Amino acid sequence: MMYNSTRSSDVLVTSAQAITRGIAGDGGLFVPDSFPPLTRFDFMELQKKDYASRAAFILSKYLTDFSYDEIVECTALAYNNNSFVSESVAPLCPLDDRLYMLELWHGPTCAFKDMALQIMPHLMCKSATKTLNGKSIVILVATSGDTGKAALEGFKDADKTRIIVFYPEDGVSPMQKLQMTTQEGVNVAVYGIRGNFDDAQSGVKAIFTDTDVSKQLDSNDMVLSSANSINIGRLLPQIIYYISAYCDLINKGKIKQGDSINIVVPTGNFGNILAAYYALKMGLPVNRLICASNRNRVLTDFINSGVYDKNRSFYTTSSPSMDILVSSNLERLLYHLSDNDSSEIRRLMEQLNKNGCYCVSDSVKSRINSLFEAGSCDDNETAMTINDVYKQYGYLCDPHTAVAVNVYKQYLNKSGDSSATVIASTASPYKFSYSVLQALGEKASKTDDFENMEKLHQLTGCEIPKTLKAISGKPIRFTDVCNAVDMKNVVFKTLNIDGQ
Ligand SMILES: *Cc1c(COP(=O)(O)O)cnc(C)c1O
Repeated sequence: MMYNSTRSSDVLVTSAQAITRGIAGDGGLFVPDSFPPLTRFDFMELQKKDYASRAAFILSKYLTDFSYDEIVECTALAYNNNSFVSESVAPLCPLDDRLYMLELWHGPTCAFKDMALQIMPHLMCKSATKTLNGKSIVILVATSGDTGKAALEGFKDADKTRIIVFYPEDGVSPMQKLQMTTQEGVNVAVYGIRGNFDDAQSGVKAIFTDTDVSKQLDSNDMVLSSANSINIGRLLPQIIYYISAYCDLINKGKIKQGDSINIVVPTGNFGNILAAYYALKMGLPVNRLICASNRNRVLTDFINSGVYDKNRSFYTTSSPSMDILVSSNLERLLYHLSDNDSSEIRRLMEQLNKNGCYCVSDSVKSRINSLFEAGSCDDNETAMTINDVYKQYGYLCDPHTAVAVNVYKQYLNKSGDSSATVIASTASPYKFSYSVLQALGEKASKTDDFENMEKLHQLTGCEIPKTLKAISGKPIRFTDVCNAVDMKNVVFKTLNIDGQ
Protein backbone atom coordinates (compact mmCIF):
# COMPACT_ATOMS: atom_id res chain seq x y z
CA MET A 1 0.00 0.00 0.00
CA MET A 2 1.35 3.41 -0.97
CA TYR A 3 0.05 6.90 -0.23
CA ASN A 4 -0.67 9.76 -2.65
CA SER A 5 -1.14 13.46 -2.08
CA THR A 6 -4.67 14.74 -2.75
CA ARG A 7 -3.09 17.61 -4.74
CA SER A 8 -0.64 15.88 -7.08
CA SER A 9 -0.58 12.48 -8.68
CA ASP A 10 3.22 12.12 -8.76
CA VAL A 11 3.70 12.00 -4.97
CA LEU A 12 3.98 8.40 -3.79
CA VAL A 13 5.20 7.54 -0.28
CA THR A 14 5.11 4.66 2.22
CA SER A 15 2.90 4.77 5.30
CA ALA A 16 5.92 5.47 7.52
CA GLN A 17 6.81 8.47 5.34
CA ALA A 18 3.23 9.71 5.31
CA ILE A 19 2.99 9.47 9.11
CA THR A 20 6.28 11.24 9.83
CA ARG A 21 5.58 14.03 7.33
CA GLY A 22 1.96 14.61 8.40
CA ILE A 23 1.09 16.70 5.35
CA ALA A 24 2.40 16.56 1.76
CA GLY A 25 4.86 19.22 0.58
CA ASP A 26 2.25 20.58 -1.87
CA GLY A 27 -0.17 21.26 0.99
CA GLY A 28 -2.26 18.18 0.10
CA LEU A 29 -3.22 15.36 2.44
CA PHE A 30 -1.90 11.81 2.17
CA VAL A 31 -4.47 9.20 1.11
CA PRO A 32 -4.14 5.42 0.63
CA ASP A 33 -3.90 4.42 -3.05
CA SER A 34 -6.65 1.79 -2.55
CA PHE A 35 -9.06 0.43 0.06
CA PRO A 36 -8.16 -3.08 1.23
CA PRO A 37 -11.32 -5.23 1.04
CA LEU A 38 -12.58 -7.19 4.05
CA THR A 39 -14.07 -10.54 3.08
CA ARG A 40 -16.93 -12.37 4.79
CA PHE A 41 -14.29 -14.66 6.24
CA ASP A 42 -12.33 -11.66 7.60
CA PHE A 43 -15.46 -10.46 9.40
CA MET A 44 -15.96 -13.92 10.91
CA GLU A 45 -12.37 -13.91 12.16
CA LEU A 46 -12.65 -10.36 13.51
CA GLN A 47 -15.77 -11.25 15.50
CA LYS A 48 -13.71 -13.67 17.60
CA LYS A 49 -10.97 -11.14 18.46
CA ASP A 50 -10.60 -8.49 21.15
CA TYR A 51 -10.21 -4.80 20.28
CA ALA A 52 -6.40 -4.77 20.14
CA SER A 53 -6.32 -7.80 17.82
CA ARG A 54 -9.02 -6.35 15.57
CA ALA A 55 -6.92 -3.20 15.44
CA ALA A 56 -3.78 -5.08 14.45
CA PHE A 57 -5.62 -6.94 11.70
CA ILE A 58 -7.12 -3.79 10.18
CA LEU A 59 -3.98 -1.65 10.49
CA SER A 60 -1.85 -4.36 8.88
CA LYS A 61 -3.85 -3.85 5.66
CA TYR A 62 -2.70 -0.22 5.51
CA LEU A 63 0.75 -0.24 7.13
CA THR A 64 2.32 -2.67 4.69
CA ASP A 65 5.83 -1.33 5.38
CA PHE A 66 5.45 -2.40 9.04
CA SER A 67 5.89 -6.02 10.14
CA TYR A 68 2.89 -7.68 11.78
CA ASP A 69 4.92 -7.93 15.00
CA GLU A 70 5.59 -4.19 14.98
CA ILE A 71 1.90 -3.47 14.58
CA VAL A 72 0.92 -5.87 17.36
CA GLU A 73 3.45 -4.17 19.63
CA CYS A 74 1.77 -0.82 18.96
CA THR A 75 -1.82 -2.03 19.37
CA ALA A 76 -0.96 -3.85 22.62
CA LEU A 77 0.67 -0.71 24.06
CA ALA A 78 -2.33 1.42 23.09
CA TYR A 79 -5.48 -0.63 23.58
CA ASN A 80 -5.19 -2.12 27.06
CA ASN A 81 -6.94 -1.64 30.36
CA ASN A 82 -4.25 0.67 31.73
CA SER A 83 -5.12 3.28 29.11
CA PHE A 84 -8.80 2.49 28.65
CA VAL A 85 -11.15 2.18 31.58
CA SER A 86 -13.61 -0.03 29.68
CA GLU A 87 -12.80 -3.72 29.29
CA SER A 88 -13.82 -3.66 25.63
CA VAL A 89 -12.03 -0.30 24.91
CA ALA A 90 -14.92 1.09 22.81
CA PRO A 91 -18.15 -0.35 24.28
CA LEU A 92 -21.57 -0.21 22.63
CA CYS A 93 -24.29 0.99 24.95
CA PRO A 94 -27.87 0.29 23.75
CA LEU A 95 -30.50 3.04 24.04
CA ASP A 96 -33.14 0.75 22.57
CA ASP A 97 -33.11 -2.35 20.38
CA ARG A 98 -32.04 -0.46 17.23
CA LEU A 99 -30.04 2.47 18.58
CA TYR A 100 -26.54 2.16 20.05
CA MET A 101 -24.05 4.58 21.55
CA LEU A 102 -20.49 3.74 20.53
CA GLU A 103 -18.62 5.14 23.54
CA LEU A 104 -15.25 6.38 22.35
CA TRP A 105 -14.27 8.27 25.50
CA HIS A 106 -12.93 5.71 27.96
CA GLY A 107 -9.31 6.71 27.30
CA PRO A 108 -7.10 8.97 29.45
CA THR A 109 -8.50 12.33 28.24
CA CYS A 110 -12.19 11.30 28.04
CA ALA A 111 -12.76 12.16 24.36
CA PHE A 112 -12.66 10.06 21.19
CA LYS A 113 -9.31 11.55 20.17
CA ASP A 114 -7.65 9.02 22.51
CA MET A 115 -8.76 6.18 20.21
CA ALA A 116 -6.16 7.35 17.68
CA LEU A 117 -3.75 9.33 19.83
CA GLN A 118 -3.00 6.48 22.20
CA ILE A 119 -1.55 4.47 19.31
CA MET A 120 -0.25 7.18 17.02
CA PRO A 121 2.90 8.01 19.06
CA HIS A 122 3.95 4.36 18.81
CA LEU A 123 3.31 4.34 15.05
CA MET A 124 5.20 7.64 14.77
CA CYS A 125 8.17 6.30 16.70
CA LYS A 126 8.45 3.21 14.49
CA SER A 127 7.94 5.33 11.37
CA ALA A 128 10.73 7.68 12.48
CA THR A 129 13.11 4.75 12.91
CA LYS A 130 12.32 3.69 9.33
CA THR A 131 12.65 7.11 7.71
CA LEU A 132 14.38 9.79 9.77
CA ASN A 133 17.98 8.68 10.45
CA GLY A 134 17.97 9.76 14.08
CA LYS A 135 16.41 13.20 13.62
CA SER A 136 13.94 14.30 16.22
CA ILE A 137 10.28 15.12 15.54
CA VAL A 138 8.46 18.33 16.38
CA ILE A 139 4.70 17.74 16.55
CA LEU A 140 2.59 20.85 15.93
CA VAL A 141 -1.05 20.68 16.95
CA ALA A 142 -3.96 23.04 16.42
CA THR A 143 -6.83 22.05 18.69
CA SER A 144 -10.49 22.87 19.11
CA GLY A 145 -10.18 21.42 22.62
CA ASP A 146 -9.82 17.66 22.65
CA THR A 147 -7.02 16.85 20.20
CA GLY A 148 -4.57 19.02 22.14
CA LYS A 149 -4.91 17.15 25.40
CA ALA A 150 -5.06 13.73 23.77
CA ALA A 151 -1.91 14.46 21.75
CA LEU A 152 -0.09 15.82 24.83
CA GLU A 153 -0.95 12.66 26.79
CA GLY A 154 0.08 10.44 23.89
CA PHE A 155 3.39 12.16 23.15
CA LYS A 156 4.51 13.35 26.61
CA ASP A 157 8.09 12.27 27.38
CA ALA A 158 8.28 10.31 24.11
CA ASP A 159 11.84 9.83 22.94
CA LYS A 160 13.26 12.37 20.42
CA THR A 161 9.93 14.18 20.26
CA ARG A 162 8.74 17.69 21.09
CA ILE A 163 5.09 18.66 21.02
CA ILE A 164 3.65 22.18 20.75
CA VAL A 165 -0.11 22.77 21.05
CA PHE A 166 -2.09 25.87 20.05
CA TYR A 167 -5.69 26.30 21.25
CA PRO A 168 -8.18 29.19 20.80
CA GLU A 169 -7.90 31.13 24.08
CA ASP A 170 -11.64 31.66 24.45
CA GLY A 171 -12.89 28.71 22.39
CA VAL A 172 -12.55 25.67 24.66
CA SER A 173 -14.46 24.43 27.73
CA PRO A 174 -13.01 25.21 31.21
CA MET A 175 -12.12 21.55 31.71
CA GLN A 176 -10.50 21.27 28.29
CA LYS A 177 -8.35 24.32 29.08
CA LEU A 178 -7.31 23.00 32.50
CA GLN A 179 -6.45 19.62 31.03
CA MET A 180 -3.97 21.31 28.70
CA THR A 181 -2.53 24.03 30.95
CA THR A 182 -1.71 21.50 33.69
CA GLN A 183 -0.07 19.01 31.28
CA GLU A 184 2.99 17.21 32.63
CA GLY A 185 6.04 16.15 30.62
CA VAL A 186 9.45 17.61 29.72
CA ASN A 187 8.87 17.82 25.96
CA VAL A 188 5.51 19.64 25.90
CA ALA A 189 4.46 23.26 25.34
CA VAL A 190 0.96 24.77 25.24
CA TYR A 191 -0.13 28.19 23.94
CA GLY A 192 -3.45 29.97 23.72
CA ILE A 193 -3.98 32.01 20.57
CA ARG A 194 -6.12 35.08 20.07
CA GLY A 195 -8.47 33.72 17.42
CA ASN A 196 -10.58 30.65 16.72
CA PHE A 197 -9.71 27.09 15.75
CA ASP A 198 -9.61 27.92 12.04
CA ASP A 199 -6.95 30.57 12.77
CA ALA A 200 -4.92 28.02 14.73
CA GLN A 201 -5.30 25.37 12.02
CA SER A 202 -4.34 27.64 9.14
CA GLY A 203 -1.39 28.93 11.20
CA VAL A 204 -0.14 25.38 11.67
CA LYS A 205 -0.70 24.53 7.99
CA ALA A 206 1.25 27.66 6.97
CA ILE A 207 4.20 26.65 9.16
CA PHE A 208 4.17 23.21 7.53
CA THR A 209 4.57 24.61 4.02
CA ASP A 210 7.06 27.34 5.04
CA THR A 211 10.44 26.41 3.54
CA ASP A 212 12.27 28.73 5.95
CA VAL A 213 10.88 26.69 8.86
CA SER A 214 11.85 23.36 7.35
CA LYS A 215 15.39 24.65 6.61
CA GLN A 216 15.90 26.01 10.13
CA LEU A 217 14.61 22.81 11.69
CA ASP A 218 16.65 20.65 9.35
CA SER A 219 19.88 22.37 10.37
CA ASN A 220 18.95 21.54 13.97
CA ASP A 221 18.29 17.88 13.11
CA MET A 222 14.55 18.25 13.55
CA VAL A 223 11.53 17.61 11.32
CA LEU A 224 7.94 18.77 11.67
CA SER A 225 4.96 16.50 11.92
CA SER A 226 1.30 16.77 12.85
CA ALA A 227 -0.98 14.99 15.30
CA ASN A 228 -4.10 16.56 13.78
CA SER A 229 -6.40 14.46 11.66
CA ILE A 230 -4.62 15.81 8.60
CA ASN A 231 -2.11 13.07 9.56
CA ILE A 232 -3.13 9.72 8.06
CA GLY A 233 -1.75 8.09 11.24
CA ARG A 234 -4.69 9.67 13.08
CA LEU A 235 -7.28 8.58 10.58
CA LEU A 236 -6.43 4.89 10.13
CA PRO A 237 -6.91 3.91 13.81
CA GLN A 238 -10.35 5.54 13.69
CA ILE A 239 -11.53 3.00 11.09
CA ILE A 240 -11.12 0.23 13.64
CA TYR A 241 -13.96 1.10 16.01
CA TYR A 242 -16.63 1.20 13.32
CA ILE A 243 -15.72 -2.30 12.17
CA SER A 244 -15.36 -3.42 15.78
CA ALA A 245 -18.84 -2.06 16.62
CA TYR A 246 -20.31 -4.01 13.70
CA CYS A 247 -18.68 -7.21 14.99
CA ASP A 248 -20.07 -6.51 18.48
CA LEU A 249 -23.59 -6.05 17.08
CA ILE A 250 -23.31 -9.43 15.36
CA ASN A 251 -21.95 -11.05 18.52
CA LYS A 252 -24.86 -9.62 20.51
CA GLY A 253 -27.27 -11.10 17.95
CA LYS A 254 -28.64 -7.67 17.01
CA ILE A 255 -27.75 -7.92 13.32
CA LYS A 256 -26.66 -10.63 10.88
CA GLN A 257 -23.50 -10.49 8.77
CA GLY A 258 -24.34 -8.37 5.73
CA ASP A 259 -27.07 -6.26 7.39
CA SER A 260 -26.56 -2.54 6.77
CA ILE A 261 -26.28 -0.10 9.66
CA ASN A 262 -26.48 3.69 9.88
CA ILE A 263 -23.57 5.58 11.42
CA VAL A 264 -24.12 9.02 12.95
CA VAL A 265 -21.10 11.22 13.70
CA PRO A 266 -20.94 14.64 15.38
CA THR A 267 -18.59 16.36 12.98
CA GLY A 268 -16.06 19.19 12.99
CA ASN A 269 -12.93 18.57 10.95
CA PHE A 270 -14.58 15.64 9.11
CA GLY A 271 -11.98 13.16 10.40
CA ASN A 272 -14.19 10.84 12.40
CA ILE A 273 -16.88 10.50 9.75
CA LEU A 274 -14.26 10.10 7.01
CA ALA A 275 -12.93 7.06 8.92
CA ALA A 276 -16.47 5.63 8.77
CA TYR A 277 -16.42 6.20 5.00
CA TYR A 278 -13.08 4.35 4.80
CA ALA A 279 -14.67 1.45 6.72
CA LEU A 280 -17.55 1.47 4.20
CA LYS A 281 -15.06 1.41 1.30
CA MET A 282 -13.42 -1.66 2.89
CA GLY A 283 -16.76 -3.45 2.83
CA LEU A 284 -18.53 -2.50 6.07
CA PRO A 285 -22.25 -2.68 5.22
CA VAL A 286 -23.45 0.91 5.75
CA ASN A 287 -26.83 2.27 4.76
CA ARG A 288 -26.38 6.00 5.56
CA LEU A 289 -23.49 8.04 6.95
CA ILE A 290 -25.14 10.85 8.91
CA CYS A 291 -23.08 13.99 9.42
CA ALA A 292 -24.23 16.12 12.38
CA SER A 293 -23.18 19.76 12.85
CA ASN A 294 -23.81 22.38 15.50
CA ARG A 295 -24.74 25.96 14.59
CA ASN A 296 -21.53 26.17 12.51
CA ARG A 297 -23.40 24.23 9.83
CA VAL A 298 -21.02 24.65 6.92
CA LEU A 299 -20.92 20.88 6.30
CA THR A 300 -24.70 20.47 6.46
CA ASP A 301 -25.11 23.18 3.85
CA PHE A 302 -22.35 21.68 1.72
CA ILE A 303 -23.76 18.16 1.74
CA ASN A 304 -27.25 19.46 0.94
CA SER A 305 -26.21 21.95 -1.76
CA GLY A 306 -22.79 21.01 -3.18
CA VAL A 307 -21.50 24.49 -2.32
CA TYR A 308 -18.87 24.83 0.40
CA ASP A 309 -18.96 28.39 1.72
CA LYS A 310 -17.00 29.42 4.78
CA ASN A 311 -17.96 33.10 4.36
CA ARG A 312 -20.34 33.18 7.27
CA SER A 313 -20.45 34.05 10.96
CA PHE A 314 -18.46 31.86 13.30
CA TYR A 315 -20.30 30.82 16.48
CA THR A 316 -18.90 29.69 19.81
CA THR A 317 -21.19 26.86 20.92
CA SER A 318 -21.66 24.35 23.74
CA SER A 319 -19.97 21.75 21.50
CA PRO A 320 -16.65 23.60 21.02
CA SER A 321 -14.78 20.70 19.38
CA MET A 322 -17.10 21.16 16.38
CA ASP A 323 -16.70 24.94 16.10
CA ILE A 324 -14.94 24.74 12.76
CA LEU A 325 -15.59 26.36 9.38
CA VAL A 326 -12.77 24.76 7.39
CA SER A 327 -13.12 20.99 7.62
CA SER A 328 -9.74 19.71 6.46
CA ASN A 329 -10.62 16.09 5.85
CA LEU A 330 -13.36 16.90 3.38
CA GLU A 331 -10.48 17.31 0.91
CA ARG A 332 -9.82 13.57 1.20
CA LEU A 333 -13.47 12.66 0.55
CA LEU A 334 -13.60 14.91 -2.52
CA TYR A 335 -10.42 13.30 -3.83
CA HIS A 336 -11.88 9.81 -3.54
CA LEU A 337 -15.28 10.79 -4.94
CA SER A 338 -13.74 12.55 -7.94
CA ASP A 339 -11.86 9.36 -8.92
CA ASN A 340 -8.54 10.67 -7.57
CA ASP A 341 -8.60 13.80 -9.70
CA SER A 342 -5.82 15.73 -7.94
CA SER A 343 -5.88 18.67 -10.35
CA GLU A 344 -9.59 19.17 -9.59
CA ILE A 345 -8.82 19.09 -5.84
CA ARG A 346 -6.01 21.62 -6.33
CA ARG A 347 -8.49 23.88 -8.16
CA LEU A 348 -11.14 23.60 -5.41
CA MET A 349 -8.65 24.24 -2.62
CA GLU A 350 -7.26 27.28 -4.45
CA GLN A 351 -10.80 28.63 -4.67
CA LEU A 352 -11.34 27.99 -0.98
CA ASN A 353 -8.12 29.86 -0.25
CA LYS A 354 -8.94 32.78 -2.53
CA ASN A 355 -12.72 33.19 -2.25
CA GLY A 356 -13.59 31.11 0.81
CA CYS A 357 -15.91 28.91 -1.23
CA TYR A 358 -16.17 26.31 -3.98
CA CYS A 359 -18.79 24.26 -5.77
CA VAL A 360 -18.33 20.57 -6.61
CA SER A 361 -19.36 18.93 -9.89
CA ASP A 362 -22.79 17.32 -10.29
CA SER A 363 -21.28 13.86 -10.31
CA VAL A 364 -19.42 14.42 -7.01
CA LYS A 365 -22.55 15.97 -5.51
CA SER A 366 -24.69 12.98 -6.45
CA ARG A 367 -22.10 10.55 -5.10
CA ILE A 368 -22.08 12.44 -1.80
CA ASN A 369 -25.86 12.28 -1.61
CA SER A 370 -25.90 8.57 -2.34
CA LEU A 371 -23.96 7.98 0.90
CA PHE A 372 -24.36 10.93 3.25
CA GLU A 373 -27.18 12.62 5.15
CA ALA A 374 -26.55 15.88 6.98
CA GLY A 375 -28.29 18.00 9.57
CA SER A 376 -27.59 20.49 12.32
CA CYS A 377 -28.97 21.87 15.56
CA ASP A 378 -28.30 24.91 17.75
CA ASP A 379 -27.36 25.12 21.45
CA ASN A 380 -30.97 25.22 22.64
CA GLU A 381 -31.86 22.08 20.73
CA THR A 382 -28.64 20.46 21.97
CA ALA A 383 -29.58 21.20 25.59
CA MET A 384 -33.11 19.90 25.05
CA THR A 385 -31.70 16.73 23.55
CA ILE A 386 -29.38 16.14 26.53
CA ASN A 387 -32.42 16.46 28.77
CA ASP A 388 -34.68 14.29 26.58
CA VAL A 389 -32.10 11.51 26.24
CA TYR A 390 -31.57 11.49 29.99
CA LYS A 391 -35.31 11.40 30.70
CA GLN A 392 -36.17 8.87 27.99
CA TYR A 393 -33.24 6.46 28.25
CA GLY A 394 -31.50 7.34 31.52
CA TYR A 395 -28.42 8.02 29.41
CA LEU A 396 -26.21 11.03 30.10
CA CYS A 397 -24.57 12.40 26.95
CA ASP A 398 -22.22 15.31 26.32
CA PRO A 399 -23.20 18.20 24.01
CA HIS A 400 -21.30 16.85 20.96
CA THR A 401 -23.01 13.49 21.22
CA ALA A 402 -26.34 15.25 21.80
CA VAL A 403 -25.96 17.07 18.46
CA ALA A 404 -25.62 13.66 16.81
CA VAL A 405 -28.69 12.29 18.59
CA ASN A 406 -30.73 15.34 17.59
CA VAL A 407 -29.75 15.07 13.93
CA TYR A 408 -30.41 11.32 13.96
CA LYS A 409 -33.94 11.93 15.30
CA GLN A 410 -34.52 14.46 12.52
CA TYR A 411 -33.41 11.85 9.99
CA LEU A 412 -35.56 9.14 11.56
CA ASN A 413 -38.67 11.34 11.45
CA LYS A 414 -38.03 12.19 7.83
CA SER A 415 -37.06 8.72 6.55
CA GLY A 416 -38.66 6.18 8.88
CA ASP A 417 -35.47 4.16 8.28
CA SER A 418 -35.39 1.42 10.92
CA SER A 419 -31.86 0.10 10.26
CA ALA A 420 -29.76 -0.55 13.35
CA THR A 421 -27.91 2.69 14.06
CA VAL A 422 -24.60 3.45 15.75
CA ILE A 423 -24.05 6.95 17.13
CA ALA A 424 -20.44 7.96 17.79
CA SER A 425 -20.45 9.15 21.41
CA THR A 426 -17.38 11.36 21.33
CA ALA A 427 -16.85 12.73 24.86
CA SER A 428 -17.60 12.07 28.49
CA PRO A 429 -20.40 14.35 29.75
CA TYR A 430 -18.06 15.34 32.59
CA LYS A 431 -15.81 17.18 30.18
CA PHE A 432 -18.70 19.59 29.68
CA SER A 433 -20.31 19.55 33.12
CA TYR A 434 -21.34 23.21 32.95
CA SER A 435 -23.44 22.81 29.78
CA VAL A 436 -24.78 19.40 30.78
CA LEU A 437 -25.93 20.59 34.22
CA GLN A 438 -27.70 23.56 32.69
CA ALA A 439 -29.33 21.32 30.11
CA LEU A 440 -30.76 19.23 32.94
CA GLY A 441 -32.26 22.39 34.41
CA GLU A 442 -29.71 22.76 37.22
CA LYS A 443 -27.63 25.76 38.26
CA ALA A 444 -23.98 25.51 37.24
CA SER A 445 -20.94 27.37 38.54
CA LYS A 446 -19.23 29.65 36.01
CA THR A 447 -15.89 29.44 37.84
CA ASP A 448 -15.60 26.01 39.46
CA ASP A 449 -15.95 23.09 37.06
CA PHE A 450 -15.04 20.57 39.76
CA GLU A 451 -18.05 21.70 41.74
CA ASN A 452 -20.13 21.17 38.56
CA MET A 453 -18.74 17.66 38.13
CA GLU A 454 -19.57 16.77 41.71
CA LYS A 455 -23.09 18.15 41.36
CA LEU A 456 -23.67 16.24 38.12
CA HIS A 457 -22.49 13.09 39.86
CA GLN A 458 -24.83 13.65 42.82
CA LEU A 459 -27.69 14.20 40.42
CA THR A 460 -27.17 11.25 38.06
CA GLY A 461 -24.97 8.76 39.89
CA CYS A 462 -22.79 8.46 36.76
CA GLU A 463 -19.17 7.90 37.65
CA ILE A 464 -16.71 10.79 37.29
CA PRO A 465 -13.65 9.73 35.25
CA LYS A 466 -10.59 9.48 37.54
CA THR A 467 -8.35 11.41 35.16
CA LEU A 468 -10.66 14.44 35.27
CA LYS A 469 -10.92 14.36 39.05
CA ALA A 470 -7.13 14.22 39.34
CA ILE A 471 -6.65 17.55 37.56
CA SER A 472 -8.09 19.43 40.50
CA GLY A 473 -4.83 19.49 42.50
CA LYS A 474 -2.41 20.08 39.62
CA PRO A 475 -0.42 23.30 39.16
CA ILE A 476 -0.97 25.36 36.02
CA ARG A 477 2.19 25.22 33.91
CA PHE A 478 1.20 27.09 30.73
CA THR A 479 -0.29 30.58 30.59
CA ASP A 480 1.24 32.15 27.44
CA VAL A 481 -1.07 33.55 24.78
CA CYS A 482 0.02 34.71 21.31
CA ASN A 483 -1.42 36.11 18.08
CA ALA A 484 -2.01 33.67 15.23
CA VAL A 485 0.48 35.56 13.03
CA ASP A 486 3.24 35.01 15.65
CA MET A 487 2.90 31.23 15.78
CA LYS A 488 6.03 30.67 13.68
CA ASN A 489 8.18 32.75 16.06
CA VAL A 490 6.66 31.00 19.05
CA VAL A 491 7.67 27.66 17.53
CA PHE A 492 11.24 28.87 17.00
CA LYS A 493 11.43 30.27 20.53
CA THR A 494 10.07 27.07 22.07
CA LEU A 495 12.69 25.04 20.20
CA ASN A 496 15.49 27.49 21.03
CA ILE A 497 16.05 28.20 17.36
CA ASP A 498 17.22 31.66 16.31
CA GLY A 499 14.72 32.28 13.51
CA GLN A 500 16.24 35.55 12.25
C1 LIG B 1 -12.94 16.37 17.70
C2 LIG B 1 -14.30 16.13 18.21
C3 LIG B 1 -15.40 16.05 17.36
C4 LIG B 1 -15.28 16.27 15.86
O1 LIG B 1 -14.54 15.25 15.24
P1 LIG B 1 -13.93 15.51 13.76
O2 LIG B 1 -13.10 14.31 13.49
O3 LIG B 1 -13.10 16.76 13.89
O4 LIG B 1 -15.07 15.68 12.83
C5 LIG B 1 -16.64 15.76 17.90
N1 LIG B 1 -16.80 15.59 19.23
C6 LIG B 1 -15.76 15.68 20.09
C7 LIG B 1 -16.02 15.51 21.55
C8 LIG B 1 -14.48 15.94 19.62
O5 LIG B 1 -13.45 16.02 20.47
